[in-house]
Amino acid sequence: MRMRIFNVLTGPPALAFIPAFSLAAYWFGGEGALLVVAALLPAIYLLAGGINGTVGHLNSAAMTRGGLLPRAAMAERCGVIFEQASESGMHSCIHVVEIEGFADLVDRFGPAAGDAVIDRMGERLTAAMRDGDVIGQIGDARFAVCVSPVRHLSLELCIQLAGRLQTAAEEPISLDGTVIYADVCIGFCQHSRAPDKQAAQWLEAACIALRSAQARGASSIRAYSDQMHQERKTRRALHEDVFAALDSGEITPWFQPQICTDTGRITGFEALARWTHPVRGVIPPAEFLPAVEAANLLERLAEVMMYHSFRALKAWDTEGVEVPQVGVNFAGSELSNPRLLEKIKWDLDRFELTPDRLAVEVLETVVASAPDDMITRNINALGALGCRIDLDDFGTGNASIASIRRFSVCRIKIDRSFVMKADRDPEQQRMISAILTMAERLQVETLAEGVETVGEHVLLAQLGCDHVQGFGIARPMPFDQTIDWINAHNAKLLDVPQIMQGRQK
Ligand code: C2E
Ligand code: CA
Ligand code: CA
Repeated sequence: MRMRIFNVLTGPPALAFIPAFSLAAYWFGGEGALLVVAALLPAIYLLAGGINGTVGHLNSAAMTRGGLLPRAAMAERCGVIFEQASESGMHSCIHVVEIEGFADLVDRFGPAAGDAVIDRMGERLTAAMRDGDVIGQIGDARFAVCVSPVRHLSLELCIQLAGRLQTAAEEPISLDGTVIYADVCIGFCQHSRAPDKQAAQWLEAACIALRSAQARGASSIRAYSDQMHQERKTRRALHEDVFAALDSGEITPWFQPQICTDTGRITGFEALARWTHPVRGVIPPAEFLPAVEAANLLERLAEVMMYHSFRALKAWDTEGVEVPQVGVNFAGSELSNPRLLEKIKWDLDRFELTPDRLAVEVLETVVASAPDDMITRNINALGALGCRIDLDDFGTGNASIASIRRFSVCRIKIDRSFVMKADRDPEQQRMISAILTMAERLQVETLAEGVETVGEHVLLAQLGCDHVQGFGIARPMPFDQTIDWINAHNAKLLDVPQIMQGRQK
C-alpha cells in the first residue's frame, strides 16, 4: 500500500497535477495558501520516501523493461527479506526461473519477439505472486522471485509454488500470429537452507539449484541442498588443480581392451583418462573433463594421453605382446589445432611407431556438426598419414553417410545404448543389424561398445560385428595391469582353440 501511495505521489501523473494544485491554492486561499502548498509538497515527498529507506531506494533503482527489479536491486531486496525473516522467525524462499534456449528463440523469431517474451514472462510471474513478493530480472532470460516473509512455507509449498510459476511461464505465447512455446527450469532455495545462513549466498544458492535443474533436462525443478554446495566446492577445487594434475602425471590413461569377435584376439586398447587424486582417489572423466575444458586444457590432455599411449605401445612391443593399436579420444577442440598433425608425427617418430598404431576416436557429433575447416583438414590429414579414424558413439550423433566417406572413417563404434540387452530385445537386434549392413556396404569396420554380458557378446559375434569392447571383456585398467591381463587372455585363447576355430568365418 505504502508503495502504491508512493508511486502515485512520485509518478508522472502526480507531477502533472502540481501546477493545478498551486493555482487552486492561490485562487482559493491567496498567497498564504500558496506558501503552505509549496512547503507541504516537498514535505510529503520527504515523508513518503523517508517512511522506509528501502522504498525510496527501490524507486531509485532502475527497473528493467517489464518493470522488474534488476539484479543488484533484487539482491539487495533479497538481503532485506532475509534479515526480516531471520529476525521474525518467519519463512521465505527464492525461486529462480530461466527460459531455456532463449538465444535460439531470439535467433529464430528476432530480438523484438525476444523482448516480448521477456515482458510476457515478467507479467505472468508477477501475476502468479502476491503483492508483497519481490520479482526481478537477474539475467537475459532469468528471473528471481522472493516470497515476502510468511508464517508457513514448507518444502512442499515451495515445490507447489515452483509448479505454479512454471505453469504460468510455459503457457504458449502468441505473437503476431506465431505461437511460441518456452520451457523454463526452476531452482529454489528456502530461507532456512541458505548456505552458511548468509543473505549474500541465498540468491546464488537458488541459481545453483537452477543449474542442477537444467542439467536434468527440460522443465525441471530442483530445490537447493547442501550437497549441491559441496559438489560445487569440489568442482571448483578440481578446476584449480587440473592444470597441475596434467603436468604432474596424476592424469593418465587407463586401458580397456578391444577384441576381435572372430578370433578372440586383442585388436587394441582404448585409452580412457583417469585422475588419480591424492585425496579423492580415482576420479572418472565425467567429473573432471568439464574442468579440463573450462581451463582450455583439452589439447594438453590429448597430448598427455597420446604420450602415455605411445609409451604403452612401446612397452607392449618390448614385452613381446601383440597390441595392434591404441584409441585416443578427441572431443573436438583438440582437433582444431593447426599444429596437431606435426605434433603427432613427431611423437610417433620419437617412439618409432607407425601411424596405424594410433586410432583417433572422433565423436559422431563432431563429424556431424559440419566442423570447421581445421577439424576437417586435421582428420583427413591424420587419415592420409595412416592413422585409423574411429567414429565414436555411433548412432547418437546423426552423422551422414557422406561424412563417413568424407572423413575416411575406418571403423564405427556402435554406441552402448544399442548394445544394452541386445540379446533379449529384438528391437535392439534390428537396429544393430541395420548399422552392420550399412557399415558393410560402406566397407568400414564395426566395434560394439559397452558389451557387458556373454549373451550380448555372442549375439554381436553372430550378427557379424567385427570387434567388441566392454566390462564383459574387461574394465579399463592401469597400464601396470595390462601385461598380466593380456597374458591371461592369450592363455585362455590357447586353452579353447576348438571353440574359437568353430566361430571363425
Ligand atoms: P567413450 O569414449 O564412449 O568411452 C567409453 C566409456 O564407456 C568409458 O567411460 C568406459 O569406461 C565406459 N565403458 C566401457 N565398457 C563399458 C560397459 O560395459 N558398461 C558401461 N556401463 N560402461 C562401459 P569413461 O572412461 O568414464 O569415459 C567416459 C567418456 O569420457 C568417454 O566415453 C569419452 O567420451 C570421455 N573421455 C575419456 N577419456 C578421454 C580423453 O582422454 N579425452 C577426451 N576428450 N575425452 C575422454
Ligand atoms: Ca571413445
Ligand atoms: Ca563411445
